[in-house]
Amino acid sequence: MNWQPDVARDFSDYLRDESRRLGQAEFITFPASTEELAAALRDAHARHLAVTLQGARTGIAAGAVPDGGSILNLSRMTRVLGLRQRHGLFYALVQPGVLLSAFRTALAKREFDTAGWDADSRAALAALRAAPRQMLTADPTETSASLGGMTACNASGARSFKYGAVRHYVEALHVVLADGATVELRRGAQQARGRAFTLALPDGRSLASPLPAYTMPAVKNAAGYYAADHMDLVDLFIGSEGTLGAIAAIELRLTPEPALEWGMTAFLPSTAAVCQFVRRARGEYAAGSGPLAAIEYFSGSALALLRHQKATNPAFAIIPDIPEGFAGAVYVEIHAETEAAAQTTLEKLVEFLNACGGNEDTAWLATTPQELERLHRFRHAVPEAVNLLIGERKKTEPGLTKLGTDMAVPDGALETVMALYETDLARLGLESVVFGHIGNNHVHVNILPRTLADYETGKKLYQHWAERVCGLGGTISAEHGVGKLKTALLAVMYGETGIAQMRAVKQVFDPDRTLGRGNLFS
Ligand SMILES: Cc1cc2nc3c(=O)[nH]c(=O)nc-3n(C[C@H](O)[C@H](O)[C@H](O)COP(=O)(O)OP(=O)(O)OC[C@H]3O[C@@H](n4cnc5c(N)ncnc54)[C@H](O)[C@@H]3O)c2cc1C
Repeated sequence: MNWQPDVARDFSDYLRDESRRLGQAEFITFPASTEELAAALRDAHARHLAVTLQGARTGIAAGAVPDGGSILNLSRMTRVLGLRQRHGLFYALVQPGVLLSAFRTALAKREFDTAGWDADSRAALAALRAAPRQMLTADPTETSASLGGMTACNASGARSFKYGAVRHYVEALHVVLADGATVELRRGAQQARGRAFTLALPDGRSLASPLPAYTMPAVKNAAGYYAADHMDLVDLFIGSEGTLGAIAAIELRLTPEPALEWGMTAFLPSTAAVCQFVRRARGEYAAGSGPLAAIEYFSGSALALLRHQKATNPAFAIIPDIPEGFAGAVYVEIHAETEAAAQTTLEKLVEFLNACGGNEDTAWLATTPQELERLHRFRHAVPEAVNLLIGERKKTEPGLTKLGTDMAVPDGALETVMALYETDLARLGLESVVFGHIGNNHVHVNILPRTLADYETGKKLYQHWAERVCGLGGTISAEHGVGKLKTALLAVMYGETGIAQMRAVKQVFDPDRTLGRGNLFS
């Protein structure tokens, strides 16, 4: 087994992810195939080594940060293994280290490395080239994420308003368990009976366990194990954050691209007006089935920060001039099949904007791919500006880091949660930038501490919000996962009983508790 020692000296980058937390490990290896991955896990199992799985390390909850033992980094498992066409739909079988950006490029060009592909895959590729363009709908802002990491976190992004999270597109997983046993989990093939399951492994063993009894919040959710009556067992592994097994291959369902993608960024006079606009838009166009792919939010402080960066940093010069005098903005993306349908939707949104105190003359419209790209860049500039600001502050206070929330609440609690955030931040005098997926009642509050005292206050506030959000029927993590940073918040959400029930499931797949040490469970 090709374990590399001296991780701290030769592979120090692999001791971190985007959370910037620093971990420790004794060994690292980079398997390139399922066989190599299984051999590494068998070996680690025999030696009782802790194993932290890594994709592209873009996670921000420290899930890929090792907690001793070994690192299994899957960034060399980068092959698209094949394609299938069934009932007019396309499915891609990918290794976990394929990056979202690389997969998107391959799909856009319809060019894949077909070495080793079977005849069915080659036939499916010919059909794909003749079919309307296909896309992978999950769109985390960070496109250097790996498809394995995205599946392990049940990632999503702005377009989850229409398309949902990664989970909805995973048809099957090839999983290697902690002891090196492999199993294929396919939607519809292995299902729980009520809240208990028995899983037959190819080596003849059977694994059985009750599932957690909790009711998951009816919101966009990426916190803890998925648990529902009669569920597909594949769903247990999606979002399990490297604690139940290593995802060695993923079969992903593709979606035809819409004929047209239009966008509008519009400015509104108050947070209440923003919420009113969201309500009107959602009332007209339901999440999932309508033409709205995304409804995103920018707080007044986010707009102010971008204005400042544009004035002082040449890297931000390309963002458009932001009109003054507004307390927030929304970005809405329309996916439609005809120009008439897109136009009708846009006109309706403009009507809502005007009714909510906005003004169509200050709105930015995008009806071409170039214009849409400009609005996307504006959206992406917010986290970049936040990171720059924190980077500056760290120069004088190295202990500082941003505190970013990832909570979501049910539709009915949107105004309550937005008011909660605003009131608490003002009461405690904390600086913040709020942005994100308001269509799903899921905004990221980024607390920007100026001092370590601010940082400590922010951390306590985070815990308080977790209690309030869970009380409103929400989740402590809608897309980033729990990792090592939010284990206390997961306990707030599911209580000690729920955590114990999750532990019982883990015990069945990983009795030595070597996988993903420190993730989900403190
Ligand atoms: C600027 C920025 C913007 C972001 N925006 C979004 C966003 O819009 N939406 C969103 O959902 N996320 C977002 N993220 C978070 C991050 O990109 C996602 O969590 C992503 O899914 C992580 O993928 P990764 O390959 O980097 O995984 P890693 O960080 O390497 O790992 C994440 C977790 O998955 C586990 N894991 C990785 N690979 C496997 C595998 N093959 N089998 C089992 N477990 C595995 C790891 O152990 C870890 O627990 C953002 C991050 C950044 C830095």
